[in-house]
Amino acid sequence: MLNIFNDEIEKTVFISEEQLADCSPRKLYGRYFKDTYIFNIFPEALEQRGEFLCEVKSPDSPLTNKGLEAVASDGHIVFYYDGKELKTESYGMYQSIFSRNKGILETDVMAKKRAVILGCGSVGSLVAMELARAGVGYFLIADPDIVEYHNICRHQCGIEDVGDLKINALERKLKNINPNVHIEKFEGIVQNLPKTTLDNFCVAGDTVFVGCADNRAADVYANRISIYYSAYFISIGFWERAYAGEIFYHIPNRGMPCYECALGDGGTISARAQANHHVYSNQENTEGLKFEPGISVDINFITTVGIKIIIDLLNLTNEGYIPRLVNDLKQYTVICNTSNPQIGGEMVEIFSYPLQVTTSLVVDFRNEKCKSQCVCKYELEDK
Ligand SMILES: [Zn+2]
Repeated sequence: MLNIFNDEIEKTVFISEEQLADCSPRKLYGRYFKDTYIFNIFPEALEQRGEFLCEVKSPDSPLTNKGLEAVASDGHIVFYYDGKELKTESYGMYQSIFSRNKGILETDVMAKKRAVILGCGSVGSLVAMELARAGVGYFLIADPDIVEYHNICRHQCGIEDVGDLKINALERKLKNINPNVHIEKFEGIVQNLPKTTLDNFCVAGDTVFVGCADNRAADVYANRISIYYSAYFISIGFWERAYAGEIFYHIPNRGMPCYECALGDGGTISARAQANHHVYSNQENTEGLKFEPGISVDINFITTVGIKIIIDLLNLTNEGYIPRLVNDLKQYTVICNTSNPQIGGEMVEIFSYPLQVTTSLVVDFRNEKCKSQCVCKYELEDK
């Protein structure tokens, strides 16, 4: 932008209504954009990510008439730049962030919803970000790993996050979307999540467990816990290089087979399913084959279908909401990025065309014993 009218363009301050009305002496942080002449004062939750801009002074303290200054006056802050009063645009933090969801998602309903994100890699980080954008108010994020350079090409986090725990990096991203979001972090895998953490977090009917650790044993375990807490469950997993992927969901108290009853526990999985799933998880693969989850756009296409289902699940009891997918997609859905075996190998031959989403695959209890002794009746042991 040309700067020839620099002196004539008014600077503007963006600040939340709550902060504008807070006259207590304090430091304000945020960012100044020289091309737009806008000071964006960050909400408190994001202060650490901004630059120091100015201090809020009491009404009787004199102005220096240099740079940005803030003075508390008559129940709100007045801003000055080089002694000249600035225009202020205040906004209701919550209403403004979610204004574009209006008429589609109920902000008040979504703010009460809770997501347990098990695995904060490429899938989990995208799920969490999208759910935050949808207005989900509470997150429990679990992952033992560190963000590394090789993660960047398919992760929501970037170079500035490399070296930190994935849960810390993701927390920053989520707060950047909604500073009011509540985040519980657990550095570890789902099987080690303390029961007290889950007891404190889970609210029956408002909670979804999202299994995205690319690990069947973790999904089996996660579905068991979700049933214990009368929570929804979804697993999003991938075939080799994300040429295809699969989504499984479970709604509690409906007599639906759980993940293990429908698909097996990984060790006792049916032969047909095994053929399709052999690359699903091999972190601990005895052959030492490294899991190759594919490129970001392929992962994200399939993950996005899962996210739409999650939003449906979280609104199942909301009478004003019309489900997008849950009534049309079965409990188990397989999605392909390509149907060309030259790219995706013989496994993708089952698909008729690229981007196919199955609507006809039916899962059931594998056998009668499974139905009567379903792990859905699992009781969580105390830890
Ligand atoms: Zn079961």
